[in-house]
Amino acid sequence: MNNYKSSNYNIFIDKLSENKSLIFNSYFDSYVVLDEQHMDALNNISICDDEKIIADLSSQGLIIKKDFYELNNILINERINKYRDGTLILTIAPSMECNMDCPYCYESRKRGVMSLETEEKLFNWIENIIKNGNFKSLSVTWYGGEPLLKIDTIERLSNKLIPLCADEKINYFSSIVTNGILLNRENSVILKNCKIQFVQVTIDGLKDEHNKRRLLKSNGDSFTTIINNIKENCDIININVRSNIDKENIDEIDKLIDYLFIEQGLMNKIGLYFAPVTDITKGCLFSDTCYSFKEFSEIENYASQRIYDVTRDMKYLFYPSRRVMSCGAVSLNYFVIDHMGNLYKCWNNICVEDKIVGNINDKMNFINEENYKWLSYNLSDNDKCKECEYLPLCMGGCPYFPINGFGNQCDHRIYSCKNYLRLYYQNYLRQKESNYNLNRLITEEGPETIIKLPLSV
Ligand code: SF4
Ligand code: SF4
Repeated sequence: MNNYKSSNYNIFIDKLSENKSLIFNSYFDSYVVLDEQHMDALNNISICDDEKIIADLSSQGLIIKKDFYELNNILINERINKYRDGTLILTIAPSMECNMDCPYCYESRKRGVMSLETEEKLFNWIENIIKNGNFKSLSVTWYGGEPLLKIDTIERLSNKLIPLCADEKINYFSSIVTNGILLNRENSVILKNCKIQFVQVTIDGLKDEHNKRRLLKSNGDSFTTIINNIKENCDIININVRSNIDKENIDEIDKLIDYLFIEQGLMNKIGLYFAPVTDITKGCLFSDTCYSFKEFSEIENYASQRIYDVTRDMKYLFYPSRRVMSCGAVSLNYFVIDHMGNLYKCWNNICVEDKIVGNINDKMNFINEENYKWLSYNLSDNDKCKECEYLPLCMGGCPYFPINGFGNQCDHRIYSCKNYLRLYYQNYLRQKESNYNLNRLITEEGPETIIKLPLSV
């Protein structure tokens, strides 16, 4: 007899051979190969009396003390993090105007750009929150419309926010989502000086397909401009290419990987990932051509294997790791801010009038109905999620769905989780064989540890 029980978050990945199994623990973020002895003990932990095996399994979080309740811990941790000052997370749209007119864009909403007056009020609003709070960091994502149409606002606000954070001794993180048309050298230098760490640019296929879907208002060739901008500026800013995939451009996946990484020589210079076009907003014209998350996971499996085959590098691939909550939108200190200073909780809701939760000019009324819907969102209401072995990785998925009455939607990356882990194992074997620098790998006696990341909470 011992004092241990099995973790609820052990995910069996594969049986590798007669006496070796691959197990991932989503609570502890551990990923190990177990021999038959350890596997038997894990399956019959209540009668195991081998101290070495118990210590091995417990060191990887595969077994836990009987009086430790992982689920309670996850749910309480989520609540603590939702309501405390940790990071002030802001998504700011300095411009809701756009130089493109893409058919699948949901932003058929109020247009306009941020005035100097709103910009100044916004800085005062942020300064007031930071000075009166107990924050450790400020995270700003520039969004739109097309944010680079108002790069002067980005520059002026960054030049005030960066010193504010330095004075208050808090960290500053910043990123931008742009269509890449205006990502020329001059603007890239400005973004670098504004301490923007990541630039997300969308490319939906090779020239013909991309230009069909990403229409310039001036009818020009957006693809060539974007590619040239990426090539000319990826030496000074981190560019991550997102490719939105639906049934119309599915054939572009292989072509785009080859074009960017091989033909254009951008391997190791940019990031690349594929994402599903979703039909969650009324403005989407593409709902018949969208894949469900489950369908998309098959595509993602294919794309990630293809990226791995071409690059032999895991840095392009998602690693399933534990998170505190599904999305900051359900937390107190998270706001999406439009060009008029209106506040929202979710990127999907920007410039939708009845989704406004406040304005930078008003005192926040935290009990207004829309804000209450997000802040009172309770993961523990969902029995399916509470029993799910992927809960620490997913935390209920994007809350937009349950909050708007569509129920929790398991994320495509959860469906692809095992596949990603198989790729990590494949890579581990390759590195082991070639005596490659085993970076994040710790090999110990006992379970063969593939990856053990520090807990993110
Ligand atoms: S709630 Fe969902 S759609 Fe809205 S910002 Fe969060 S992840 Fe995105
Ligand atoms: S949304 Fe799906 S994958 Fe995520 S915790 Fe709930 S049941 Fe699990």
